[in-house]
Amino acid sequence: MSFEIAEAQLLRRGVSLEAIASIVYQLQIAYHPELKQEECLASVKSVLSKREVQYTLFTGIALDELAEKKELPEPLQAILDADEPLYGVDETMALGITSMFGMIGLTSLGYLDKVKPGIIGVLNDKTDKVHVFLDDLVAGIAAAASARIAHKNEGARQYL
Ligand code: MG
Repeated sequence: MSFEIAEAQLLRRGVSLEAIASIVYQLQIAYHPELKQEECLASVKSVLSKREVQYTLFTGIALDELAEKKELPEPLQAILDADEPLYGVDETMALGITSMFGMIGLTSLGYLDKVKPGIIGVLNDKTDKVHVFLDDLVAGIAAAASARIAHKNEGARQYL
């Protein structure tokens, strides 16, 4: 099943679902003092069970791995080698994931891109591997999982 493939690919690239869940926890704990790590993990799993998210992940990880093996056509190989700041396709793909779960995730995505907490920073700092896509995709999944929790908040105001 493609959920298991997505989870296995993330693990192969050094990312556990628990590591993504801790970022979700950090994002949401201020708004939900009762929040549990398990709820964050369940939200990450729910995001990752969406087929479109899995496909986005497969695409980004494949490009990272091909870049590592120097198997991409030019000029794409050179752009990924440099992690060119103006490339932007990695961020666009992350945005695609997050926007499936409401606009509230977009501010979290921007925040995660700037601050790079937890596993996002670890991926970003690894110079022997190519993680042009994966750092953004993990941020996208974390922001989406965080948005899911925000939307389900029972303390949210009611207007009707
Ligand atoms: Mg990137």
